[in-house]
Amino acid sequence: MTTDELVELREQLLAREHLLQAEVAGHSLDAAVLAEPGDDGDAAHLVNRQDETVALLRRECKELHDIELALQRMESGHYGTCGECKKPIAPKRLEALPAALRCLACQEAREVRAR
Ligand SMILES: [Zn+2]
Repeated sequence: MTTDELVELREQLLAREHLLQAEVAGHSLDAAVLAEPGDDGDAAHLVNRQDETVALLRRECKELHDIELALQRMESGHYGTCGECKKPIAPKRLEALPAALRCLACQEAREVRAR
């Protein structure tokens, strides 16, 4: 991977991080509002929306964490190397998913294990 490619991916990651931080802040606010006892009577509906908001927040926080790790790996020069098998991650995969921490094979193996 060239330095230019790295710089570009780093910018993508930083832009995504920025966006996610704004979304997390917004959804945290939503979750807090939804947790307030309201008087519109439809408690089940509210609980559903709160669950969805919390699930969304979790995903966003996880992605933020991955981005943070990817940025750290850029700093330390380990970016683009699979965290498990230590082989290079395919450039196409990094283009599609700049925060990828594993090669496709390791990621798939991990998802199968998680099931
Ligand atoms: Zn791997």
